[in-house]
Amino acid sequence: MGMNVLKDLDVSAIEKRAYINGKYVAATTGRTMEKLLSFDGRTTLSGIAACGKEDVDDAVAAAKAAYDSGIWRDCTPAQKRSVLLKLAELMEDRRMELALLDAYETGRAFRNYYEDSIPKAIEAVTYFAESIDKLYDVAIPPRGSEFGVVTRTPLGVVGLITPWNDPMVVSCWKLAPALLTGNSVVLKPAEQSSLSAIRLAGIAKEAGIPDGVFNVVPGYGEEAGEALALHMDVRGISFTGSGETGKRILTYAGKSNMKRVTLECGGKGPYIVTEGCGDLARAAKVLAENMFYNQGQICSAPSRVIIAESIHDAFVRHLKEETLRWLPGDTFDIASRVGCVVNREQYEKVQTYIKEAREAGYDVFCPEEENDHPADAFCIKPTVITDIPADARAAREEIFGPVVAVIKARDTREAVSLANASEYGLAGAVWTDDINEAFDVVSRVEVGLMHVNSYGNDDNSAPFGGVKQSGLGKDKSLYAFDDFSDKKTVWMHFEKTGNGK
Ligand code: NAD
Repeated sequence: MGMNVLKDLDVSAIEKRAYINGKYVAATTGRTMEKLLSFDGRTTLSGIAACGKEDVDDAVAAAKAAYDSGIWRDCTPAQKRSVLLKLAELMEDRRMELALLDAYETGRAFRNYYEDSIPKAIEAVTYFAESIDKLYDVAIPPRGSEFGVVTRTPLGVVGLITPWNDPMVVSCWKLAPALLTGNSVVLKPAEQSSLSAIRLAGIAKEAGIPDGVFNVVPGYGEEAGEALALHMDVRGISFTGSGETGKRILTYAGKSNMKRVTLECGGKGPYIVTEGCGDLARAAKVLAENMFYNQGQICSAPSRVIIAESIHDAFVRHLKEETLRWLPGDTFDIASRVGCVVNREQYEKVQTYIKEAREAGYDVFCPEEENDHPADAFCIKPTVITDIPADARAAREEIFGPVVAVIKARDTREAVSLANASEYGLAGAVWTDDINEAFDVVSRVEVGLMHVNSYGNDDNSAPFGGVKQSGLGKDKSLYAFDDFSDKKTVWMHFEKTGNGK
């Protein structure tokens, strides 16, 4: 057991209201949300504003007025850069507070947030801020007396709708490029993780973001989220969450104003291990790190191992040993690498998959050992399911928990066709020492991110996003600016003045 940091959170001082036009305000109806927290399964958190359509209307009106005024949009790239760099600096000063808020609300290990997640969010803000004054617009090839340029223009008011599994990272992946391209923003955080986003709005004001340019409307998806995505004055929605909600967002865009939609949805990452893999122990270790971190609540988790029959048993032996390093513990114990799943609903959903797999007679393994955590905390031990057919529910559907399905393949050709027999296409991997095989598999697997003898490599300079029903558009990298801006072509005519004579 290490030190417990829950005492460092002043629960009575937590801000729970919406942030609209530069001020914290209660929901118009006065409604709030109440929930049971997963870190101990006993504490309730109440009082977070449950915004509805009226509040979304207010936030969008404030965002539109700020946009139309040009107060932020017309700042130079260097001015925007310096405000966002200040935001990153202030987030660094509040790193402890932001990490505590997210750990408290989601049950994920405090240490994860403090050492990894909040720093990643800060790095994303810094990366985008530093990029914005290095981007150029383009001129078309000169043609006589006509001259044309293609410039980037903001969309206007954009809505950001985020999930709970990595609240600050996903918010900053979207917020920074949205602001830097000149838009005004309304953020609807997930109802399971609103506190850090609410706090971020106040920090952004301190950094110099003008009132109305960044608003936060906590609330339920089918209320605040739907109102935002249907709003006629919102010109773009950037969404991360489930595929089901992603499809709804597309219909809202069609029903309202054809707003730009970008989606980062779920995944069921294929992790192909071929007979050419020379280091099964490392393949198992990297799998476990990427699968069991954050209790498997990771969209790009490699949750579908597809492995050559001849090496299956040896690999599974290594994998079972690795599970011991990912046992859940007390969220606030600084020694814990893994905390809880987000809530009872998620806990029960994951348990249903495990129970169903047991009842179907598949081989379900989880370690007997326990780490110290409160008895009622919603924690799930890392689970490995083998002898499972590729078309079983646990092998096909995104479980979003610490559960990996291991499927056998006769050869690499069959492994690739099993990998592609999915509507998901977010991230994948191939493990082999044969470069020809690696290249062949990489070119044939239908995903947005592919790894060779590795997994989870992460850098702000690389785009992140899926194909098929895993999404539309990209977070991170310079490509992210494209999702928050439009291109405007400007033609100019010049009278010739005597060819330099
Ligand atoms: P979710 O779709 O239930 O919720 C995501 C967000 O959408 C929340 O803010 C929610 O309030 C809102 N929402 C729900 N219904 C809505 C509606 N009708 N209209 C508008 N907004 C609505 O997803 P979740 O359970 O919070 O998150 C888990 C999912 O997110 C998983 O599928 C995971 O794979 C995915 N995810 C994807 C990525 C990625 O980058 N591809 C990253 C993290 C999570």
